[in-house]
Formats: sequence, structure tokens, C-alpha cells
Amino acid sequence: MTARVLIVDDMLANLKLLEARLVAEYFEVRTANNGAAALELCEWDLPDVILLDVMMPGMDGFEVCRRLKSDVRTQHIPVVMVTALDSQNDLLKGLEAGADDFLTKPVDELALITRVKNLARLKLLTDEMFMRASTEEQMGFAAVMDGEVVGTGRSGRVLLVEDREAPALRMIEALKTDNDVVHLTDTARALLGAPDGNYDLLIVSLNLENADGLRLCSQLRSIDRTRHLPIMIVVEPDEEERLHRGLDMGVNDYIVRPVSTSELRARVRTQVKRKRYTDFLRSRLEQTVEMAVLDPLTALHNRRYLSSHLVTLFEESADRGRALSVLLIDVDHFKAINDTYGHDAGDDVLRELALRLRRNIRGIDLACRLGGEEFVVVLPDTRPDSAYLVGERLRQSIAAAPFVVGGRNRPVNVTASMGVAALEYDNDTPDLILKRADQALYCAKRDGRNRVISYAA
Ligand code: GH3
Ligand code: MG
Ligand code: MG
Repeated sequence: MTARVLIVDDMLANLKLLEARLVAEYFEVRTANNGAAALELCEWDLPDVILLDVMMPGMDGFEVCRRLKSDVRTQHIPVVMVTALDSQNDLLKGLEAGADDFLTKPVDELALITRVKNLARLKLLTDEMFMRASTEEQMGFAAVMDGEVVGTGRSGRVLLVEDREAPALRMIEALKTDNDVVHLTDTARALLGAPDGNYDLLIVSLNLENADGLRLCSQLRSIDRTRHLPIMIVVEPDEEERLHRGLDMGVNDYIVRPVSTSELRARVRTQVKRKRYTDFLRSRLEQTVEMAVLDPLTALHNRRYLSSHLVTLFEESADRGRALSVLLIDVDHFKAINDTYGHDAGDDVLRELALRLRRNIRGIDLACRLGGEEFVVVLPDTRPDSAYLVGERLRQSIAAAPFVVGGRNRPVNVTASMGVAALEYDNDTPDLILKRADQALYCAKRDGRNRVISYAA
């Protein structure tokens, strides 16, 4: 991952040190040696993450942070406060100024890279959300973005696995005002509960008395439903090696004991926010994918899906020497239905017809709306004579009972004509089969409609 990081510090030596470490990890680095210069730089070149020294002459880090967070153009850029001392007061002031995370000097290399990576990922997601918002201008998007739940990273569902009472109570106390915390002392129960708990974050102690927290992390990473669940581990200061192993297996963040309340809160907020953004984007992606293959009026598959899927079904059948038939269906005198009852009533007929099709075919059959009042049903493992019978059944299910349209009791008689064709020749293709079905359909129309005709060479 590459991201632009702005480092702000009044000491040249500090700037150079942080810059060298970040450049070694392929981050793009800008530097500024005072608050005013940092703000000015942000005017024309927006970074993805800002590392901000607290103690600077003139404008201190808290003030720079406040200004960044109160400007709409910069408020979504994550800010990491770099504090000289491990002072609880500085952490609190930083949180109030809107800081997203903290590092203490001397800056630990692993901490630096972990925090910057986490925040750069969050920024990437935020950017993607904004891009979607401006391209789609979907209603309600702004509400979701700014809303308590997604936008602030509060109200997270957190699963805490810690079997020592005192540290558990301290962490619960720190988190419970903003989050819904479930506490377990047993990794076996956590492994069972995590996939179903709809959690936003898992916090695991690596100093459990009766189990191995790292094992739990690795197990959860290998289960599909928890693969994307953010995990934070809690470690003792001298546990470098296990910490590295955790990060290697995909743990998202860590916190070192004794756990600082402010630090814990800030990091939980970042992880929860990220989880919410990811969930949101993922559900949108699923919707987009669905919209691309479904017909919005009837919820049957559309022509695009048919063209790709028919090829697959065709190749499977051809390879295994299995039968494959296709039914092409066209509503009779549909224009007249529109003209008589109105376009909305016509839409109702199409929806009801789709329902009747669906009810009368098997699960492995594929029903699609080609467009207008034309439908296709693909019947795997079905010979043309059986396909003819299926067509006859569909035809009767349409003709037998009038369609009710317009929400009122206005029955309309509807019929449809169908052409049947099948995979038959050595050099057959999906297109050729559809073409033959179309010729058969033409015959059905010509011979008086409301009938099924099989293609005959
Ligand atoms: P035939 O029996 O020969 O098939 O006659 P037809 O009237 O069904 O065929 P034609 O192709 O002349 O007319 C199809 C009509 O379907 C024309 C078009 O306005 C209408 N139509 C196409 N798509 C929709 C739709 O989504 N909703 C509605 N209500 N009508 C549609
Ligand atoms: Mg028609
Ligand atoms: Mg037509």
C-alpha cells in the first residue's frame, strides 16, 4: 500500500528519522517544520495521514489538529499525535482536538508502521465512500456517512477476550460509554461466538492464563465469516516476537500494557469506523453486482446474465454429452394490452408472467427476461420432447387463469407463444440454438399464437 504521509515536527533530526522509516516502507513523505507550514501545505496537497508533533514553538500540535478537524477539506485526514511524554493529559487533549491515534517519543518503528498503515487504509476507504457519494449522489448517502453509526466509529460491538479480571474490568470501563462490549474469558467460546455475534472488533489478550490468544486469532482468520473481522491484540511490553507473529497473521492493531484509556478508545474508534466503511462498501458492491445481472421489473435474470451463463451451461452439456433445451417465449398481442389497459398494467402482466414461469420450472432451470415481452427459459439435462411438454405446461399456466392488473380486480386474458430448440449438432453454439428457437417461435406466431412449436430442420 502506498499513501502520502505528512510529518510535522520542529526538530530536523526527528523529521529525518521518521521520513527515513516511512520511505523504507514505500510511503510518499512530505515534511513541514511548523504548524502554519503544515496547514499551508494541506491547502494544495492533501496527505492521507498526518504525523503531528505536539510540542512546537508558535502553534502547537493540538491547535494544528483542531484546525485540520474543523476544515471540511481536511477533517477526514487521520491525524497521529506524536507526544514526547507518555502523559495522560496530552492524550486527553489530543483526543479533544480530534486526534485519531498517538505515538510516543522515541517512536518505536513497529508502532509507527502499524499505526500509519491502519490509518492509511481507513483513509483509502473514506476516499472511496466520498467518490461513490459524488458519482452516485444516492439519496440517503450523506445521512449514512455523517450518521452516528458509520461516521464516528462509536457504538461498536466489541468482543473482549481476557481471562484476568482486573485488566478486563479496566478495558470494559474505558469502552463501555461508546460501545457495546461482550466479555468472554474462554477462547473456545470466543471461537464459537465470534462468527455469529455481528462484531465490529475483537480484542484479544496475548497473556491469557488458560489459553493461547494468538491461536484464537489465527483460527478466526481462517474462518470465512471472521476473515474480515478486525482484531486488536493486547501485549506486554517485552513481547516483540509474539507481537510480530500476530501482525504477520493479519491482526490489525495492538496495544501495549498498561493499557491507556485514551489510546484504547482512539484505536477502537478507528477500527470500528473502518469496519463500518468496509461493510457499507461491500454491501453496495453486492447490490451493484446484483443490479447488473437482474431485470429490475421482474427480478428474473437479464439478457447480459443469459449471454454469459448460457455459454457455461452449453459447454458443460456439450462436454458431458448431456441434453440442453431452450424455450423462447413471447407474449401475444402485448401492444394491445398496453393500449387497452395502460403501460402500468402491461408491467403488471410482465411481473405476473415472470411469477408463473418461476413456479413452473425446476431450480436448475434458468429463466431470463430478454427485454420487452420476451423471455427465455434454459433447461439443462432436458431433451427437446420434454422441453416441449414444459413449454405446454407454461403456456397453459399463462392462458388458463386471467391476469389481475392495476391492483384492482381487472382480469386480463393473456397468452404467449413459444419456440423450442435444443443442443443438437456437433458444431452447435448457444447463438445458433437461440436462432432456431426464434424460428420456431415465428412459426408459433404465424400459426395463430398461444401455442408451442419445436424447431424442425
Ligand atoms: P405479437 O403477438 O406479434 O408478439 O404482438 P405484440 O404486440 O406482443 O408485439 P410487439 O413487438 O408489436 O409489441 C410489443 C410491445 O411491448 C411494444 C412495447 O411498447 C411493449 N413493451 C416493451 N417493453 C415493455 C415494458 O417493459 N412494459 C410494458 N408495459 N410494455 C412494454
Ligand atoms: Mg409479443
Ligand atoms: Mg415482441
